Amino acid sequence: MDRSPVYDFRDHVVCVTGAGRGIGRAIALAFAGCGACVGVNDIEAATAEETAAACRRLGAEAIAFPADVADAVAVAAMFAQLDAAWPRLDVLVNNAGIEPVHSILDHPLEAWERTLAVNLTGTFLCTQQAARRMRAQGRGVILNIASIAGKSQPLYLRSAYAASKAGQVGFTKEAARELAAYGIRVNAICPGVIITPMTEHLRQDEAQMRRWLSEIPLGRLGEAEEVAALCLWLASDAASYVTGVAWHVDGGKNMA
Ligand code: NAP
Repeated sequence: MDRSPVYDFRDHVVCVTGAGRGIGRAIALAFAGCGACVGVNDIEAATAEETAAACRRLGAEAIAFPADVADAVAVAAMFAQLDAAWPRLDVLVNNAGIEPVHSILDHPLEAWERTLAVNLTGTFLCTQQAARRMRAQGRGVILNIASIAGKSQPLYLRSAYAASKAGQVGFTKEAARELAAYGIRVNAICPGVIITPMTEHLRQDEAQMRRWLSEIPLGRLGEAEEVAALCLWLASDAASYVTGVAWHVDGGKNMA
């Protein structure tokens, strides 16, 4: 399928969290392919650097900024490093996420708190840092990679994940409302099951996969590049009147 770059993000600075692999990596590469300078965050320094190197091979400027998005001090330091590297910030993609699997009946509190800290508090911390910079510029775009699990599609044994993703959707709308005054657009993207390391265990469960696939009108799982393609559009001026929306990228599984 041809998803070659049709957007021009030259002179734009984009920061993608959790971009060492999976969807975040695809988003970083998509922006790099459109000429953006890309700040590549991941908790894992080696994978962040690997993605940054892949972006550079596409001809883009890219720098790895390893940090735990749940750590307020580390996030502030990361944005200070971004300031030192580039004089502006045009797009933030809050993508970093974790998905522990536990029954509510014996969910470890630590896993619950860590999931909310990474998926939701991490989104807040990075948004706060980015929005301060974007307000000074008078424009910017923030994209939150949520999930259909946070809207209308309960998964199973993923209560902390679903709660954090629903939180991201609510936060997106609140942020879109508040930050519009500064020319900042904020949207959420809610993928269905996308082929990444996160869903490897899920995809190995043949019975569950058969059931899941039978409920997807397009009849297949998604690819990370298909999520990245929506990010490019939402970040572009083609979407200049679009804010506060949670977009499904799920092959039609949820039409609500
Ligand atoms: P993934 O393959 O597990 O990649 C997530 C990346 O985030 C990993 O590189 C991970 O680093 C990094 N990360 C984890 N915790 C972090 C932290 N505290 N700070 C910075 N980076 C951190 O997941 P994915 O499938 O690409 O998912 C990306 C996003 O899409 C997540 O928010 C996920 O919830 C959402 N999503 C995915 C799907 C899907 O089907 N794949 C569906 C709906 C929504 P390590 O590997 O080193 O831990």
